[in-house]
Amino acid sequence: MTDLQELYQSVILDHNRKPRNFGALPEANREADGKNPLCGDEVHVALVLQDDTITDVRFTGHGCAISKASASLMTAAVKGKTRAEAEALFERFHTLVLGKDADAGKDLGPLVVFSGVSRFPVRVKCASLAWHTLKAALESEAAGPAAVSTE
Ligand code: ZN
Repeated sequence: MTDLQELYQSVILDHNRKPRNFGALPEANREADGKNPLCGDEVHVALVLQDDTITDVRFTGHGCAISKASASLMTAAVKGKTRAEAEALFERFHTLVLGKDADAGKDLGPLVVFSGVSRFPVRVKCASLAWHTLKAALESEAAGPAAVSTE
């Protein structure tokens, strides 16, 4: 393992142990449930969308270290972003974890730690679950939670 891979691994383990923005968000006006049956990951993403900006976002759920760390880093990355910015970030993140573009990680900040996932196709769904769920939440009506499955 290279030093860089070890660094990435330690960031993922840290976010798995101490997830950021973990917990309920009672004032949320958009939310969705995501499931990755392949691995058993489940995530609930709740956010406050105000004037097209994600002013707050939190998640709950359980799953493998990759899915939990990804949800943690995702919430940190999209907080304060507009809906369009968050969706653009998801596009770049997806390109990164699919390994389609070696430069995809350039503007992704700490999200680059998931670049190694592209070598493990089964793990791509773990890493992208929170993002798919975020997207479903953004597309949901204020009325009730949406649901998404990566299968
Ligand atoms: Zn998983």
